[in-house]
Amino acid sequence: MKHQGNALPPYVHLDNGELWLTEDDRDNLKISYRIKEVIFAEPSDYQHVMILDSYDFGRMLVLDGVVQTTSIDGHIYNEMITHVPLQLHPEAKQALIIGGGDCGAAREAAKYDRLETIEMVEIDKKVVHACKEHLPAVSGNLSDPRVKFIYDDGVAFVQGKEGVYNVIMIDSSDPVGPAEALFSSEFYANVHRALKEDGLMVCQSQSPIFHLDILKRTYRNIRELFPHVLVYTAVVPTYPGGMWSFTIGSKRPLDFPAQTTIPNDTKYVNDAVFRQCFSLPEFLRSALEE
Ligand code: SAM
Repeated sequence: MKHQGNALPPYVHLDNGELWLTEDDRDNLKISYRIKEVIFAEPSDYQHVMILDSYDFGRMLVLDGVVQTTSIDGHIYNEMITHVPLQLHPEAKQALIIGGGDCGAAREAAKYDRLETIEMVEIDKKVVHACKEHLPAVSGNLSDPRVKFIYDDGVAFVQGKEGVYNVIMIDSSDPVGPAEALFSSEFYANVHRALKEDGLMVCQSQSPIFHLDILKRTYRNIRELFPHVLVYTAVVPTYPGGMWSFTIGSKRPLDFPAQTTIPNDTKYVNDAVFRQCFSLPEFLRSALEE
């Protein structure tokens, strides 16, 4: 999109005196949220960044007009992209998050004392600053000394790294703009190389309803690199279609722990959710077999 100084972008508009955000990045589907207040709105070098206060979802992070996370349902995605891989790798010590500018994934990862380092490589400093200041329900005002913020392109950052991390979590926005390359096979090959011999990665792999092609391509790309691959899902109300997918690629066998060690202050993930999230509905199970 074109950056427009501090003027509000066209997807924030008045309708009969009410303020609305309309996500209009899709050809055949528009989703609108009634907005109480624009808390923050500025273009960055990469995208247009807003924090809006909405009636139904509380404060939300909106990048280029697309809702990324909200006070009401952000924990679902952030817990699922961190606790599931960290439960599958109980010995993990070095973790890397790519993207994740709302800080919610880093906040969840920091609940694991056994993690010695949590690096977060986010391309857009403005997203992190806006979320730390205006979206504490998601970012939690994260100040854990193990979390190291690195402002860089995740694609360039992993290039040339070898055997550094036990777990890499790719918490990207949709595959357009700066996040497009985070869905490429070259990038996954670099992620594979950056992992230790026992390492595993997870990425958000989009909507099984609206982006099944992206999910299938992601699954195939990861399966070509990793001997062990699993897809799991969660329901995130503000993502189109509700149902959202995550794909894990692992160098080590994916053994389910007899006892999980999920922190007791989660709101979505618990032992039962962890065990059932890999049960896929038939249309998805068979699509991945093709
Ligand atoms: N939970 C969200 C979702 O699925 O819609 C995404 C969370 S987070 C806000 C996504 C972050 O990825 C954004 O802050 C964006 O700036 C960052 N990002 C996009 N492309 C990137 C890249 N190439 N390297 C590092 N971070 C990137």
